[in-house]
Amino acid sequence: MMHHFHGSCHCGNLEVDYTTTITPEKAMVRACQCSFCRKHDARAISDPNGMIELTVHNPSLLERYRFELGVTDYLICRKCGVYVSAYSQRGTEAYANVMVNVLDAREQFPDPSPVHLDGEDELEKWQRRAKNWTPATLRIADQ
Ligand SMILES: [Zn+2]
Repeated sequence: MMHHFHGSCHCGNLEVDYTTTITPEKAMVRACQCSFCRKHDARAISDPNGMIELTVHNPSLLERYRFELGVTDYLICRKCGVYVSAYSQRGTEAYANVMVNVLDAREQFPDPSPVHLDGEDELEKWQRRAKNWTPATLRIADQ
């Protein structure tokens, strides 16, 4: 049984469609303790058996913020400032998570548990994400 959740940034430029096998009550909501996520009070979910489709309506208003190792695109809307998803791509393979805060059904999800991911190198990050994150596609919509 698949569950579908729609979300977007505040102005609607970045949309996310998250398909998952996991009900909201069973979702493991993660509050990453890195300095970036703390500033956004980010609450992330993912499902390796699910699917994330990210849609960008105006690509000039998409910020692919990067820091530290520089291997992850933190997708932020430049117009309204909302952080929607962390997206990691290698070749044709891409994985992402989704911020509970942007989902229409955000109220259905439980409180987050803190996670500490400091000290991973690039390969360790990729391997963890390939295992735990959600296969993702990033689509630029026709203008
Ligand atoms: Zn926006």
